[in-house]
Amino acid sequence: MSSYSPYPNDAYAVGWISALPIKFAAAKGMLDEEHGDPKTPKQKADRNTYALGRIGKHKVVIACLPMRGYGSSSAAAVAREMLSTFPNIKIGVLVGIGAGIPDYDGDEEQDIRLGDVVISSDSETGGVVAYDSGKRLHDGTFKVAYPLDQPPVSLRTALSALYADHEMRGNRIPQYLQAMLAKHQHMEHRYKYPGQLKDVLFRADYQHQGGKSCAKCDPRKAAKREPDIRADANPVIHHGVIATGSSVVKYAPFRDEIRRKHRAICFEMEAAGLMNNFPCLVIRGISDYADSHKNDDWH
Ligand SMILES: [Zn+2]
Repeated sequence: MSSYSPYPNDAYAVGWISALPIKFAAAKGMLDEEHGDPKTPKQKADRNTYALGRIGKHKVVIACLPMRGYGSSSAAAVAREMLSTFPNIKIGVLVGIGAGIPDYDGDEEQDIRLGDVVISSDSETGGVVAYDSGKRLHDGTFKVAYPLDQPPVSLRTALSALYADHEMRGNRIPQYLQAMLAKHQHMEHRYKYPGQLKDVLFRADYQHQGGKSCAKCDPRKAAKREPDIRADANPVIHHGVIATGSSVVKYAPFRDEIRRKHRAICFEMEAAGLMNNFPCLVIRGISDYADSHKNDDWH
């Protein structure tokens, strides 16, 4: 027995895409109110599964990226099919995991740690920078294109409010991200208690010493962070520029270059596929530091 949304498909303006295959129930948990199935059946070519509902005053459609369907072309396909059924979607929300870009020695230090959450936000760039997409100019320099505006303040406010619900009803964004992280054993491994002791940020000039873990890496080469260990294990939410590109970054000097060029605090690989369709708000749980110590070989 299923119920149908009381609202027509064209009443939905926010498309929420979960970039990891998690239980749909976890994604639905982000809604303030559930609406049931689409009032008008979806288009034949639309392969997405949807959860409809409300976040704040926004009517939201949630879809998940298909299993093993990572990357911007997969996100673009989900967005395209979503638009065929919900033609008035104007804003995308993309939730998944990403790599943190720490800045422990900069002027505006961003103390980003594993398990923290980054939300794209920046008045100059819109919050998402496709650092490998743009034009090569006549003098050889590369100019990144900032194609779209950022989503309206009201949506960011609603999502920040969701986060602030922490005090009242439990912090749902980290819960949601942790549900995703638990699906990925290599990350689960890192997050097992005592998580913070496993969270080692090595200095950018220190390469991984081999093997599937950092057992051979020298803890004395870790970057100094203040405090060494946070007083509590609650994730911190950061607002800033998210860098999106088509390759996995596992090289700290490049990571730091992207930070300097774009003031970016996080890497991810799917947002570019949505930016062609509508402005998007990107929310990422930090699972590594985009350096050679990143392990993605865990089974
Ligand atoms: Zn290592």
